[in-house]
Amino acid sequence: MGNLPTESAIQSGDPMVLARGEGIYLWDMHGARYIDAIASLEAVAIGHGRSEIADAVGRQYAQLEFYDTLRFTSEPTIKLANRLAELSPMPGSRVHFATSGSEAVEAALKIARQFHLLNGEPLRTKIIGRRGGYHGCTVGAMALDGNYYRTKRHFFDSVPDVGRFVPVPTTVDMIADLIEFERAETVSAVVLDPMATASGVHESDDSFWRDLRVLCDERGILLIADEVITAFGRTGRWFASARGGVAPDLITVSKALSSGYFPISGVITRGSVSDVFEEQAAGLSHGHTFGGHPVAAAAALANLRIIEAEGLVENAVTVGAHLRSGLESLLESTNLVTDVRGEGLLYGVSLHDAMDARNNEELGPRVVRSLREHGVLTFVLHPGNVLLFCPPLTIRQDQVDDLVERVGLAIRAV
Ligand code: PLP
Repeated sequence: MGNLPTESAIQSGDPMVLARGEGIYLWDMHGARYIDAIASLEAVAIGHGRSEIADAVGRQYAQLEFYDTLRFTSEPTIKLANRLAELSPMPGSRVHFATSGSEAVEAALKIARQFHLLNGEPLRTKIIGRRGGYHGCTVGAMALDGNYYRTKRHFFDSVPDVGRFVPVPTTVDMIADLIEFERAETVSAVVLDPMATASGVHESDDSFWRDLRVLCDERGILLIADEVITAFGRTGRWFASARGGVAPDLITVSKALSSGYFPISGVITRGSVSDVFEEQAAGLSHGHTFGGHPVAAAAALANLRIIEAEGLVENAVTVGAHLRSGLESLLESTNLVTDVRGEGLLYGVSLHDAMDARNNEELGPRVVRSLREHGVLTFVLHPGNVLLFCPPLTIRQDQVDDLVERVGLAIRAV
């Protein structure tokens, strides 16, 4: 039970008890310092310990801590919706707020379903996702899980059987073939994490997004980009799915929306989708008590201001290129790194021992342990031995050099 620290955890350090954070660094309760190479589960874009967020949150608590979010709204929530609509690559965007990534995905699925019902297309129920993809742990989001769902199926028989999956790396032809096989008039949406992070990090180029956009438009299928990990600069763009001059219909966001300083998530919806609800005077049949929480919105607004003012999206491009070449240097300097994939400040590093096949067992977890001994916190993606690197977007070049040196030492120590 990872969330239940016990006395023995405090003594043994498993799970590690973290006490303090500043910038890209975390300190455990014994005072040891670590580089946070995964931005605390892909969330902390602006780095740890930012007093600006504490100030914004404190001001909002003093003003209005909470209200009924289903019947009323508040100033920071309106401002945040407007800011997201400005940043959004989709014309006329509207925003629905929730508190976690899973809830945002859940809401996106319901928006898609209700959109098709309002359009008189009740047969559109199926969702196409990627094998190994992860979209959350609520029951609806689990239906899109190309991996976890199958492995846990015996516990969760009630998961709706709407998910259909394409392999990774994914081509548009694979998605087109699956749509053809399932019959387009039964497909509601294609849902993709733009970087296929859980499947081992696989980026898709401009032509992929252009061709996929054409395919979805021709078949009347909604395109949902699950940007819970990638939105707000992670890949060197505000939104990873805004590529090749096209954009999706719905974008789910969470994590870096508040950099993890307060739980918040949202679904940003293209105007042409929300218009169908407006025209038919149909509200979205969905909503959470804490969706659009004013304190969460204040934290998110302050966070987005920092990302913009400090040029963190641009930093992800320049320092990200430096991280990429640093990680690629490990292809030569270690004999376990076989591939580096990713973009901006999000990379997957494949590990494989070609000399000794037995060494591949548990290789990823062993390297993660060694990294911890070398002062770096990260984890290994399932499946396979893929290390994840996505440090805070504030990371500097000299800090990248230090990180890469430690990674090289840790891998060679295994
Ligand atoms: N979607 C993606 C792409 C994710 O990576 C995650 C979580 O890591 C989720 C959805 C679920 O978010 P949460 O854990 O906040 O429910």
